[in-house]
Amino acid sequence: MSHNITSVAVIGAGTMGNGIAHICAQYSRQVTLVDLNEGLLQLGMETIAKNLSRQVAKEVLGKDEADAALGRITTTTELADVTEAQLVIEAATENSDLKRQLFSDLDGLCPAETLLASNTSSISITLLGAATGRPDKVIGMHFMNPVPVMRLVEVIRGHDTSDQTHETVVELARELGKTPVTVNDYPGFIANRVLMPMINEAVYCLMEGVAEKEAIDEVMKLGMNHPLGPLALADLIGLDVCLSILEVLHGELGDDKYRPCPLLRKLVAAGHLGRKSGQGFYDYRSK
Ligand code: NAD
Repeated sequence: MSHNITSVAVIGAGTMGNGIAHICAQYSRQVTLVDLNEGLLQLGMETIAKNLSRQVAKEVLGKDEADAALGRITTTTELADVTEAQLVIEAATENSDLKRQLFSDLDGLCPAETLLASNTSSISITLLGAATGRPDKVIGMHFMNPVPVMRLVEVIRGHDTSDQTHETVVELARELGKTPVTVNDYPGFIANRVLMPMINEAVYCLMEGVAEKEAIDEVMKLGMNHPLGPLALADLIGLDVCLSILEVLHGELGDDKYRPCPLLRKLVAAGHLGRKSGQGFYDYRSK
């Protein structure tokens, strides 16, 4: 099978970046993985190797295929090394100024035909496109965590994203075994605009004493068939991440229905960020 996109660069080797590099390499793309230092790149590669071994153990992949996938990834700390890639997928830290600078730098470095995608959860794709001289070639590819497992890719069309860029990225997502769903560029896209108000409402229910946390989660699990309750899910995502996405929705849509619950703010202020800090709505320290 011939593919339009055979080489990809991924910016950021963190939670999402290493997952995106993994899946691209698994599906035969050459991958250049970029991060700020060797230590972060090494951590990212160790995670990819561990997740590939898990797929081998589960007989999803052969050992040879896993080794070949790992061999297709090269790492670098130099952004200038991405110029061979036909598509750059940016998965760096969620910070608007940082991403705008990255898109401007990538625009200066990459050949005119290179497509530039962002995995951002909440930053405007139109804004990132406007930081470049090629807004028609800028698009959102919002993968879900964990990337090798979750099937959805929310594909976000910025104001000036071209049909051709959109088609190429949709086709690539399908070739990576994902199901692309296209949405337009408004704050939170679909996934977070619908999910975060639900999580926020669950936190209000807890704060107002409507029910205990376990009861709130149980109602949503048993009643709505959700695999995880909203409070347990918030702990998994990170309470700081939930708060910052709600702040984007509240600030940019200007509607008080998105106002972050004071209890969510209090937990973040206390450093109780969920699983990653050992405590959030639930206590994970003994696990
Ligand atoms: P992370 O903190 O785990 O990883 C970000 C990585 O980017 C870090 O390793 C950091 O060193 C690197 N980085 C920062 N600036 C860089 C630069 N200038 N050049 C190269 N590398 C740089 O974050 P993450 O959770 O992987 O999130 C990455 C992006 O994916 C964010 O935009 C986030 O909103 C989005 N996202 C996250 C999730 C999630 O569940 N974690 C889900 C969907 C989308």
